[in-house]
Amino acid sequence: MPKMPVLFVGHGSPMNAIEDNDFSKNWRSLAERIPKPEAIISFSAHWFTDGTKIMNQEKPETIYDMYGFPKELYEVVYDSPGAPDLAKLSKELISKETEFDNSWGIDHGTWSVLVHMYPERDIPVFQISIDAYAPPEAHYQIGKELSSLRGQGVLILGTGNIVHNLRLVDWSMGNKGFEWAYQFDDFINENTLANNHENILNYKDAGKMAKLAVPTPDHFYPLLYVLGASDQEDKITVFNKSCVLGSVTMTGYLFE
Ligand code: ZN
Repeated sequence: MPKMPVLFVGHGSPMNAIEDNDFSKNWRSLAERIPKPEAIISFSAHWFTDGTKIMNQEKPETIYDMYGFPKELYEVVYDSPGAPDLAKLSKELISKETEFDNSWGIDHGTWSVLVHMYPERDIPVFQISIDAYAPPEAHYQIGKELSSLRGQGVLILGTGNIVHNLRLVDWSMGNKGFEWAYQFDDFINENTLANNHENILNYKDAGKMAKLAVPTPDHFYPLLYVLGASDQEDKITVFNKSCVLGSVTMTGYLFE
């Protein structure tokens, strides 16, 4: 079995789920290019909890954790099977305290991307939550501990946004970003490509641009799981490197 890639996706607006745009087109072509996974573990910005939770349903529900969008978006159902056995194995591999929790489901951080990548909904998928109170190193460590699953056909997916400041969103900026947004995205890009993960874990040391880009870490932390699961030997592909609405970058990374 080929070693699976690891993937970080900048998901941006939930509307990307139902739009055929450059972002969603690139997600589709990535899926066509990489081996089809046996299962997917998703770390979504939108399951941001007190402690690390793992869902282990046979059939996870689709969660509509966004407000004020067109009706069409609330009709999307992503009804892939779950993966209780893989959830159990993941729990065993993670040294941090975790618990099974089925109060959540597949949220829009996950399904807005997977509807494009795997529209057949035949690949088992489940989510592991992002512990809001754990330091960057703890998220990175979980990625590391799960990295062996890559050899078993498992796709580890992180879905968030490297720059995500909704308070500063400026609709008039369209497909452009503020200077600090590009700067922070470039800072992460350089360190990702150079495998300087220390600098990324210590992103707060980047000062003012980091404060503006990551006002809360929910959308940033999914990247840390992906970096943890990556390997120095991986070839890195950067895709959708761009900024929208001033303060959201769409940049994604594939490690293979
Ligand atoms: Zn989001």
